[in-house]
Amino acid sequence: MNPEVSQESIDRVVETIERMGFKAHLSRGQFRTVIGAVGEEGSLDQNHLASLDGVEKVVPIMKPYKLASRDFHEEDSVIEVGGGSVPKVKIGGEFATCIAGPCAVENEEMLNKIARLVRAGGATILRGGAFKPRTSPYSFQGHGEQALKWMRACGDELGMPICTEVMDTRQVELIERYTDSFQIGARNMQNFDLLREVGKTRKPVVLKRGLAATVKDWLLSAEYVLSQGNRGVILCERGIKTFEDSIRYSLDVTSIPVARQLSHLPIIIDPSHAAGKRDFVPAIAAAGMAAGAHGAIIEVHYCPSEAQCDGPQALLPEVFTELMGQLRQIATIFNKHFTKSAAPVGA
Ligand code: PEP
Ligand code: MN
Repeated sequence: MNPEVSQESIDRVVETIERMGFKAHLSRGQFRTVIGAVGEEGSLDQNHLASLDGVEKVVPIMKPYKLASRDFHEEDSVIEVGGGSVPKVKIGGEFATCIAGPCAVENEEMLNKIARLVRAGGATILRGGAFKPRTSPYSFQGHGEQALKWMRACGDELGMPICTEVMDTRQVELIERYTDSFQIGARNMQNFDLLREVGKTRKPVVLKRGLAATVKDWLLSAEYVLSQGNRGVILCERGIKTFEDSIRYSLDVTSIPVARQLSHLPIIIDPSHAAGKRDFVPAIAAAGMAAGAHGAIIEVHYCPSEAQCDGPQALLPEVFTELMGQLRQIATIFNKHFTKSAAPVGA
């Protein structure tokens, strides 16, 4: 739309787009409003749209993903996680953030202990799995709703928004009641029904890259969420399968500048699942930050040998704290800064 367009003209264009059978998505940038018309290709009357009041130009977005594309939203998106019972944490643009915690919520005591340690170390969002996607059906599968209750109480007490994995469409409603943000695991990146379902909520979604997904596949998965009206997608590079077998997965640092060029969405790295071994986590995290990530999601445990899940890759709390100091320095070089923990709501 033209820079000084009236709200009336915007409403008129939105109405027209909807009458043509498309969904209208508004993106208000610093300089102009862009209205995305999303639907099945072919049937949009571009000439008619171009003739409407306030329309500067009609541009077809050639990329297969539209709302995820920088063509639709030029500036970096800044996504807020939390609000309500916990302070809001920003991620994207100049705001970097660290999500940390155990792989799985094993019991209330360990969760509370780790949460305090990662908060003191510089994390602003608490992670923890209540429903775990395990390679073996005989491995620990998570404590389910009980774990969500512990997470919620712990997040509220410390003033940390929480993030937990959703594996199935049937869990969305339950998890939405407790969590501040969803995590879609690598194995579910192309579970399209699940993507659509979390897209219908208004809670941010950390979308892990699939083990064998291209950046384009990944952005198309983000598009599924965005197409349902949920603007809060945070991409997460967690490593892909390559022929290399000395590590668990290969963290594809290249995907960070590539995704950032193609998309306005924030992107974080998960060095824990890529490395599979704690020794490699700090170096991989640093590389991801230097490549332009907006932060990291890191697994931490005070007694990794006792962890029920992913112990070998969990950082000890003191190593995590040291790493956060380094990530903060790298962020500064690239004009970003890590958000600080705010006091709990009502404290
Ligand atoms: C996790 O974060 O604990 C997890 C299972 O991650 P991913 O889906 O990347 O393997
Ligand atoms: Mn894990």
